[in-house]
Amino acid sequence: MALGRREFLKGAGTCVGGASAIALGFAPPKAFAQETRQYKLLRAKETRNNCTYCSVGCGLLMYSLGDGAKNAKPSIFHIEGDPDHPVSRGSLCPKGAGLVDFIHSDGRLHYPSYRAPGSKEWTRISWEEATDRIARLLKDDRDKNFIEKNEKGETVNRWLSTGMLASSAASNETGLLDFKFARSMGMLALDCQARLCHGPTVSALAPTLGRGAMTNNWVDIKNANVVLIMGGNPAEAHPVGFKWVMEAKIRNGAKVMVVDPRFNRSVP
Ligand code: SF4
Repeated sequence: MALGRREFLKGAGTCVGGASAIALGFAPPKAFAQETRQYKLLRAKETRNNCTYCSVGCGLLMYSLGDGAKNAKPSIFHIEGDPDHPVSRGSLCPKGAGLVDFIHSDGRLHYPSYRAPGSKEWTRISWEEATDRIARLLKDDRDKNFIEKNEKGETVNRWLSTGMLASSAASNETGLLDFKFARSMGMLALDCQARLCHGPTVSALAPTLGRGAMTNNWVDIKNANVVLIMGGNPAEAHPVGFKWVMEAKIRNGAKVMVVDPRFNRSVP
């Protein structure tokens, strides 16, 4: 329909007025739906790793930027569960899900520090200095205290004055190398942090199965018909691993029994 002169001027006036209002900063806010953000992982490098906070060892996908680009500093900016990991299948508990904060924490130790005996100050040293000093102290102590033969004249090759504490979150291969390293030097005092987190399990596992350590893998738990939990609270301590207990319940109608003087969240 053709506009008459009057309608045309009225419409034009409205447009000019609207444009002036926008120019004066009275524009309505932009609708979020109109914006398209670029997918944040698009240019990222993906690296697989494992969460080392606990023995479930959930699979991680770590995304970083800057890899290979000239003058760009690589930095991990996103971490999520690895859906292809056979145990965690993409899940992470709050500790694993918050790993990116841990990586960028101001309190994170990035280099070796040395505190001289009696001093209150920590001094930054290089990795070479740190490894040289550790090697020197180990060698001096071993040279001084190595026991080649016992009082009966039998060869024992023991070094009892130094011990080693390994990590329980390491892989089987790293654990094997830890032991080979320590034992090859004659060290007998060798332990790992599993002493702490497996402490309560030993009281149930050792009398039952003859061993204090875990006897099967997490995924195998899904085949159980009965799950007996003693001295532990995996629903809270190992939430991702505990989902295999839930799977046994759902798939097999497994009976879950918890032996604990406290009421805990693993109680079905
Ligand atoms: S359960 Fe949590 S702490 Fe343990 S490995 Fe998985 S993400 Fe890490």
